Amino acid sequence: MNEFNAPFRILMGPGPSNVDPRVLRALSQSLLSHMDAVFEEDIMDNVQEGLRMVFEADNALTLPISGTGTAGMETALVNMIEPGDSVLMCAAGFFANRMGEIAERVGGNVTVLEGEWGRAFEPDEISRAIDEHTPKVVGLVHVETSTGVAQPLEPLREICGRDDIITIVDAVASLGGQPLSVAENRLDFAYSGSQKCLSCSPGLAPVSLSEKAVRRLEQRGSPVRSWYLDLTLLSQYWRKTNRAYHHTAPISLNYAMRESLRMIEEEGLGNRFRRHRQNHMALVAGVEAMGLEMFAKPDVRAWTVNTVRVPEGIDDATVRAQLLEKYGIEIVGGLGPLKGKIWRIGLMGSSSTRNNILLLLGALEDALTGLGYKAEKGAGVAAAIQCYQKAVGS
Ligand SMILES: *Cc1c(COP(=O)(O)O)cnc(C)c1O
Repeated sequence: MNEFNAPFRILMGPGPSNVDPRVLRALSQSLLSHMDAVFEEDIMDNVQEGLRMVFEADNALTLPISGTGTAGMETALVNMIEPGDSVLMCAAGFFANRMGEIAERVGGNVTVLEGEWGRAFEPDEISRAIDEHTPKVVGLVHVETSTGVAQPLEPLREICGRDDIITIVDAVASLGGQPLSVAENRLDFAYSGSQKCLSCSPGLAPVSLSEKAVRRLEQRGSPVRSWYLDLTLLSQYWRKTNRAYHHTAPISLNYAMRESLRMIEEEGLGNRFRRHRQNHMALVAGVEAMGLEMFAKPDVRAWTVNTVRVPEGIDDATVRAQLLEKYGIEIVGGLGPLKGKIWRIGLMGSSSTRNNILLLLGALEDALTGLGYKAEKGAGVAAAIQCYQKAVGS
């Protein structure tokens, strides 16, 4: 077998995002055991503290699940739902549908509130569905990666604050990229993934539970139907003292997570959000100046996942192949009903940079005009630069 050398890619799909060399160095450090006091104090405690900072909630039960974003999803659903519980799933995209499927597998009595792909839910729609179905659990996706829509959470605070409802929010594509504000928005169970806006390697799924969610967990009448993802057991490993072995934590990934969180702390969460917003605006200005159209409605566009319609007569895959071959840029196509119809451009964590956006706009122009698409020369890059110049402090 030859030595493997990964080619460098500019990762601008909906995850994973590029990982900073500091995080890669953290991955290569000497291995400790999962019960070593140094790992417990310097890694576990700091990772939990850093996660509370990005979740913006002082929730005691905040920890990284050993698994990808979907493991975070499964953890939320299997811990919060008991067989027969009424569950309302607000679904306007691929990942909300996955939540619904898992909720059924763990025994939930699931009602799907179907929304149009490309739009967000209005509080009234959800309230009416709650009145009709009286769910114990309401699930929704913050940034729906399949459509590029960010569900506004602030208008849902009243719903989330209800004593009789546990809200589960998928923040896989938003945590660390745009405001989630778990405490302020009264979210009961938020989960995410390490490889998107946190810019760590894939394999960890941060979760954070409100006191209400912890009470729901403690008051369950039946054991959690997954042993590996049972938070009553996991919390005994992640508690501060007298830690009890549960499974061997992925040590190196936790080093990497600690370094990613340290980088977020250094940048400042507010600055990081501003960076993501600014870069999103520059990208939109650029693609629109090239005559391309965004898919998500303007008032609900996510900053982290940008969806652009593939123009008439252009083959989605040919463009993506050229970006990859000529420029080393990865963007990704649509999922399900949007396959072939949109491109998904991730501007997450370390991938959300001015350099990446200018390069991508230039590369897109090259690929599209080569295929016969008519666009004014240099218009995309020029519009993005103008957008940056207009921004205060750039
Ligand atoms: C990526 C993603 C997931 C799945 O995460 P994996 O790490 O691929 O398991 C779930 N929900 C959303 C919104 C995502 O963007």
